[in-house]
Amino acid sequence: MTITVGVLALQGAFLEHLVLLKRAAQYLQSQGITESFEFTEVRNVDQLAQCDALIIPGGESTTISLVAAQSGLLEPLREFVKVDRKPTWGTCAGLILLSEAANATKKGGQELIGGLDVRVNRNHFGRQVESFQADIDLPFLKSDESVSDDPFPGVFIRAPVVEKFLPHVEGIQLGEQQVAQTVVAPAKSAKDNQARGAMSSHVDIMGILPGRLKKAAAMGAAVDAGEEVGDIIAVRQGNVFGTSFHPELTSDIRIHVWWLKQVLGAIDKRAASSS
Ligand code: GLN
Repeated sequence: MTITVGVLALQGAFLEHLVLLKRAAQYLQSQGITESFEFTEVRNVDQLAQCDALIIPGGESTTISLVAAQSGLLEPLREFVKVDRKPTWGTCAGLILLSEAANATKKGGQELIGGLDVRVNRNHFGRQVESFQADIDLPFLKSDESVSDDPFPGVFIRAPVVEKFLPHVEGIQLGEQQVAQTVVAPAKSAKDNQARGAMSSHVDIMGILPGRLKKAAAMGAAVDAGEEVGDIIAVRQGNVFGTSFHPELTSDIRIHVWWLKQVLGAIDKRAASSS
């Protein structure tokens, strides 16, 4: 069986994702996985229709959503994620687009795809520290014995964080719609609305960036970091996965390997339930 994985290629770091996906697939094949993968750039509705799974890369979420709207891709993307529930992973700008609500948006905002019942805060780390790299501990990688459990090199570039979990409602997140400078994902069609009911309602926290106090404590400072929670930088809800950081800008294939396995699992599950 050949599985087609697309990378939305309207703007941003899509080529980098393709490079890591190919390396991750080679690794999986070296581990005995028999399915073959095809990786493809997605710029239009026909290309999206070929895909079993999709990555939305980092870049500029406003630009990606504008070009997607111009290409007539926004509704098909919503259907891909929420109605067909095909595995989708967003990195940085991609996470913003996959959230049901985002704040700190420009006037007029951007259109969201949605799929994750969370609100993200764009450019969370502010202007002074727009980019940084931090070692992060990702417990989900540890479930895979074939990969190393070293911390993951997290590259954060004007990164969003998940700042609120939203109730799993049918249709639009009305409560969030009233908040200034916040945009919400629309539910334009009845199909979208019904689909919400069938989506997983549970958001899993997949990664946390420890706060400054914890970091200081780890470096030996005498501070009480006990209560500090840190920032949520990776979440999953059913087949929708989002990370604030950019694994595609590193040479570390571990998250791509893990995600391709999730894709295989989702496809197996679907085949089992339809047979
Ligand atoms: N903050 C950017 C946005 O709003 C995302 C940055 C990124 O993808 N590196 O789109």
